[in-house]
Amino acid sequence: MTPQKRILTGDRPTGKYHLGHYVGSIANRLRLQNDYECYFIIADLHTLTTKPNKAEVMGIEQNIRDMIIDQLACGLDPDKVTFYVQSSVKEIYQINLIFEMLVSVARLSRLPSIKDMARAAQIDDDQLPLGLLGYPVLQAADILMPRAHLVPVGKDNEAHVEITREIARRFNFLYGEVFPEPDVLVPDSGTLIGTDGQAKMSKSLNNTILLSDDAKTVDQKVRGMYTDPNRTRADIPGKVEGNPVFIYHDMFNPDVAEVNDLKDRYRTGNVGDVEVKKKLAVAINNFLEPMRERRAIYEAKPNLVDEILAAGNAKTRKIAQETVRMMDEAMGLLYFKN
Ligand code: ATP
Ligand code: MG
Repeated sequence: MTPQKRILTGDRPTGKYHLGHYVGSIANRLRLQNDYECYFIIADLHTLTTKPNKAEVMGIEQNIRDMIIDQLACGLDPDKVTFYVQSSVKEIYQINLIFEMLVSVARLSRLPSIKDMARAAQIDDDQLPLGLLGYPVLQAADILMPRAHLVPVGKDNEAHVEITREIARRFNFLYGEVFPEPDVLVPDSGTLIGTDGQAKMSKSLNNTILLSDDAKTVDQKVRGMYTDPNRTRADIPGKVEGNPVFIYHDMFNPDVAEVNDLKDRYRTGNVGDVEVKKKLAVAINNFLEPMRERRAIYEAKPNLVDEILAAGNAKTRKIAQETVRMMDEAMGLLYFKN
């Protein structure tokens, strides 16, 4: 049997997951956990690149807990997946420093994503932190630390993984073959629109349905969803295409006959928004129900999350130490190490 390929993916600890995250990445993780050796990072150091203030750091621990519980609730299995916290694996700092020697400032400066992140964080050009410019280098350290072969990322992150590939090539060329050149895996799931129907679902836009929302909250959020704005009465024919209520029905309501019936009646002005939304809320709540059941188990035993993370951190540290050793040997950085 050939050894399983290794995957590295993860998120910054910015808070609870929503349906967009599920569609765009967690659903993919659920499939991947069965076929690959999976390392899922909570990249807390990456939050510091734009927000190094103490208040931000104070919120990280809770966010990490929420995000691990969310992923466990989704059915990611800690026996298959290694969850770990970036800052708990100090070797990542070491690897990052070596990688900083292998990429030019000019190369990083040309990445539009860095400028976008700076702009979003309202950071002026002359205030750009070195660490933000180095974001893709730290990401390379994350990815190459477990010597990952595959990196599932969103479209927006493809250019960063290209930097990782360049750094891997450069290291291997200068010192000898240590790192695989990891491939990106961009899921073809597309982007889930928010409940406001105006932009992608996103925490900062307040248009989310969280995986941890209770049934009542889901009912409320669905009731407030954007639909066809021209349809002021139930007997006016409505538009189904691009209508977020029907996009969600297609995605989360497994009762295809019901969805088709609602669409037909919507198009011909024979159904009220209230009915369409009521049925959608039921479908989304059914979708979230198994997560709620699993979540209850973890919430009843808060130590379980700590244990899962402690085990994941320890296992990851071992691999990281192995990698640093391989790097030191390749580079000849072995002197005075004992
Ligand atoms: P948010 O966008 O809610 O503020 P975030 O900024 O913490 O969350 P992102 O970096 O935007 O997280 O997204 C993390 C991952 O989740 C990415 O891979 C992205 O593709 C996916 N994702 C986030 N929002 C959506 C969405 N609305 N539809 C599909 N995928 C999404
Ligand atoms: Mg975002």
